[in-house]
Amino acid sequence: MKFDSIIKNGTVVFPFHGEVKCEIGIKAGKIAAICDEIDANRAENVFDAKGKYVFPAAVDSHFHVGIYRPHSEDAQSESMSALVGGVGTVISYWRTGHHYLNKTGPYKEILPEVMQLSDGNFYTDYCYHIAVMTADQLDEVEWLVENAGVGSFKFYMFYKALTLSADSTKGSAYTMAENYDLGHLFELMTRVSEMAEKHKDKARISLSLHCENPELIRVFIERANKQGLTGLKAYSEGRPPLSEKLSVHEAAILADATGCPINLLHLSSRDALQAGIDVRRTYPNHDIKLETTLHHLALDHEELDRNGIGLKGKVNPPIRTKEHSEFLWEGIKRGHVDTVVSDHACCGEEHKQQGVWGSLPGFGGTSILYPVLLSEGCHKRGVSLARVAELVSANPARNFGLFPRKGCISIGADADFAIVDMNLEKPITASEALSAQDHTPFEGFMTKGWVTQTIIRGNLQFDNGKVVGEKQGTFIKRPIALHS
Ligand SMILES: [Zn+2]
Repeated sequence: MKFDSIIKNGTVVFPFHGEVKCEIGIKAGKIAAICDEIDANRAENVFDAKGKYVFPAAVDSHFHVGIYRPHSEDAQSESMSALVGGVGTVISYWRTGHHYLNKTGPYKEILPEVMQLSDGNFYTDYCYHIAVMTADQLDEVEWLVENAGVGSFKFYMFYKALTLSADSTKGSAYTMAENYDLGHLFELMTRVSEMAEKHKDKARISLSLHCENPELIRVFIERANKQGLTGLKAYSEGRPPLSEKLSVHEAAILADATGCPINLLHLSSRDALQAGIDVRRTYPNHDIKLETTLHHLALDHEELDRNGIGLKGKVNPPIRTKEHSEFLWEGIKRGHVDTVVSDHACCGEEHKQQGVWGSLPGFGGTSILYPVLLSEGCHKRGVSLARVAELVSANPARNFGLFPRKGCISIGADADFAIVDMNLEKPITASEALSAQDHTPFEGFMTKGWVTQTIIRGNLQFDNGKVVGEKQGTFIKRPIALHS
C-alpha cells in the first residue's frame, strides 16, 4: 500500500496501553497502518518524530467559542491557539442568552446561524454542546440529537440568581429564560436521559453541569466584602468550595431520579472533587464523569495576587490554592478525574478592569493543554504519558461520543496527532499562544514538554511555533456509532 504520509522514528503513546516504538501510515486522512517500521519510500511525505513522542491529538472538550467576541473571528483565532496545545478537536459550549449572539429563540433557527458563522473558520475539527435555556427549547432536545449532530448538553447551576444589574427583578435578563431553575434542570435531564437510552448503542449522550450554588455565593460575597477582602482571594472566598459541593450533590440527586448521564465540569477544589467521588459511590449505577481544568491544577490564587496577575485570573469556579490543586492531582493519579480541559474563553485584559465582581470571568488555555499536563503531571508528579493521553484525548472523545474516530490511535481513526518534544523547556507567554487574548494568567510559568507538530486528518497544521495549515476544520456530527 502507498501512503500519503508516514510518521517515522517516534515513540507512539497509546491511551490505556502505553508507549510503543512504531510507525504510522496515513491515507486519506485516516490511520491506515501501524507497524514496527514502514519504508520511507512508501509515501510522498514523511514526518520525522525522532526523539519525540506521538500522542493522539487532544480533544479539548470544554471551550467557549464566541462568548465575548464575534463568533467567526473567535473561531479563527482560538482554534488557531488550540493547534499550539496539540488540540485536533474542540467541543465548544454554546447557549442563547446574554453574551454569545445575545439573543434567545428556538435552536432550530439559531443553531444554523451558529453553524454558518463557524463554517470555514476553524483550524481544528469542532462540535457543540448546547445549553437548553428555555422551556420551549426543551422540546428541541430530540431534534438537536437526531438532526443537528449535538450529543451533549449543559446546565449552569448558579445562573438562577444571575442578574445584569443590581435590580434582582431582572434575574431573567441574563438567561433570557423564565424559569431557569432546578425544575428546568429536572425537565432537561428527563429529555437527555430519553435520548441517551434511545441512542446508547451509538454513543454516550449526556448533560454537563456547572456546579456552584447561587444562594451560598450571595452570602459569601457579602462576607468577603465585609471582611474587606480583595483580588482573587475575595473571589475564591465569595464563591467557596462549599457552594460547589452542595451543587454537585443536588445535580447527582436529580441525575439519579432521571437516569441522566452527567459530566461534572471544572471541579476546582478538594470539596468539589470529593463530592464527585462521593456521588459516584452513592449512585454506582449512574454514569457520572468528573472534569477538572489546567488552571485549577496548576495555579494558586495567592501566588497570582502576589505576582500582579490578579483579576486576569478571574474565572468560574475561582482558582483555589495549592492544597486544593494537589488534591486534584491525587484524583488524576488515582483515576478519579476523567478529563482535563482548558475551559478556554478568550477574554482580553480590557474586560478584567472592572473590579473583582464586575470583571468578566474566564481566559484562554487551550494552547497549553498538553504542555501543562506533561510538565506538571509527567515530569513533576510521575503521571504516565498514556494517562495524559487518556485525560485530554481518549476520555473526552469517549465521554462526548467521538470515540473511536477521535482520541484513538487505531486503524480507521482520524489521523490526528500531537508530536511532542518532552525535553523542550520554556516559559508560557501570551504571544506564543497565537490567541486573540492579550494576556495569560500563566505568564512566565516554566513548562517542560511542548507540542512541536499538530496534525489533523493527516494534514500538518502547526509546525514548530507556526501555523502552516488552512482553516479546514469540519463540524463533527454526533453521536457517532462505534466502529461504523
Ligand atoms: Zn466553561
